[in-house]
Amino acid sequence: MDTNVIYEQEPPLILIVEDDRTTRMLLRRAMEKEGYRVIEAADGEEGIADFVRQKPDIVLLDAMMPVMDGFTCCQHFQQMSGGNTTPVLMITSLDDPDSVDRAFEVGATDYITKPIHWPVLRQRVRRLIEQNHLYQKLEFANQQLQRLALIDGLTQVANRRRFDEYLEREWFRQARERSCLSLILCDVDFFKAYNDTYGHQAGDECLRLVARAIAQEVKRSADLVARYGGEEFAVILPNTDAVGAVYVAENIRIQIEALAIPHATSTVRDRVTLSLGVTSLIPESENEPAMILSLADKALYQAKASGRNQLILIGNEE
Ligand code: GH3
Ligand code: MG
Ligand code: MG
Ligand code: MG
Repeated sequence: MDTNVIYEQEPPLILIVEDDRTTRMLLRRAMEKEGYRVIEAADGEEGIADFVRQKPDIVLLDAMMPVMDGFTCCQHFQQMSGGNTTPVLMITSLDDPDSVDRAFEVGATDYITKPIHWPVLRQRVRRLIEQNHLYQKLEFANQQLQRLALIDGLTQVANRRRFDEYLEREWFRQARERSCLSLILCDVDFFKAYNDTYGHQAGDECLRLVARAIAQEVKRSADLVARYGGEEFAVILPNTDAVGAVYVAENIRIQIEALAIPHATSTVRDRVTLSLGVTSLIPESENEPAMILSLADKALYQAKASGRNQLILIGNEE
C-alpha cells in the first residue's frame, strides 16, 4: 500500500482504544490492510498508558467505554501533550450535537460515527496522519530557521542580533534583581596583519578556533558568547561580579595564547592573542543597556593602549 511510500521509515502506528472486541478487531484488520502497525487498548486508562509508551501517529478513540470514557481520555492526551500534536479521531455511535461538541472541546481532531463507514475511515486516517506529519516537518523547519537566525554562520556562536536581545533582557532582569551583570569584550590583536600575512581564509579559520576556545571557557548556562563584530567577541555573564568576570576573562586570554596559532607579524607575541575589556555593574533600569557596552569598550581600548594581550576592568563608579 502506498502509505509505506509516503512514510520513509516504519509504517505509521495506530492506537485503537475501544472496549468492544469485535469493533476493535474490525478496526485492526482495516488498518493493517492499509499497511499500518496497530496497538490496541480496551479502555481509556490502558489507552493513556499505550499513548505514553508507544507514541502512536494517530489514536482511534471510542467515546463510550468502561473505566474511563473517550472524552476524559482525550482530555488527558491534551493535558500531557506538551507540544505533542498526535491526531485523535473519535469513533462513536453518539452523534447528538452535544457529543460532537464535547468531542471537539476535549481536543479531538476529527469525529466519525458508528456504524463505521470504512472508506471514510480509511481516508480520514490517511489524511490526519499526513497532515500531522507535514505539520511536524514545518515545526522542525521553523525551529531550525529560528536557530539559524540567531547564530553566526562562520563561528557558530550567537550573532549580534541574539547578543543585543540577550543583553537587553539581562540588563533589566539584573536591574530588577539588583544583581551584578558583567560583560567581556574580546578583540583579536593585530588581526588585520594576520589576514595580510596568512590570507583571509586562514583568518576565518582563526576566528572559528578563537570562538570555540572562548565558548569552552564560559560554563554557566545563563552565560552567552557572541560574535559582536568582525574579530570581536562578547561574553555576557549574568549574576557575576567583577571578580568572577575577571577570572573568566583571564582564562579566556590564557586559552587563546595556549592555542598557539602562529602570528609572525604580531608585535605582542609569536602567536594570536586577545585584548579584553571587562566591566561589571548592577544595572539601573532607567539607564540603557548600551551603557555597559561603552564601559567595556573603554576598557578594551585601554587594554589595547597598554600593550594588548591583557585585560582591563572598568567598574561602575568610573
Ligand atoms: P588591533 O590589535 O588594534 O585590534 O588591530 P586589528 O588589526 O585587529 O584591528 P582592526 O580593527 O584594524 O582590524 C580588524 C581586522 O579584522 C580587519 C578585517 O580585515 C578583519 N576581519 C573582520 N572580520 C573578518 C572575518 O570575518 N574574516 C576575516 N578573515 N577577517 C576579518
Ligand atoms: Mg464503546
Ligand atoms: Mg576590532
Ligand atoms: Mg583587533
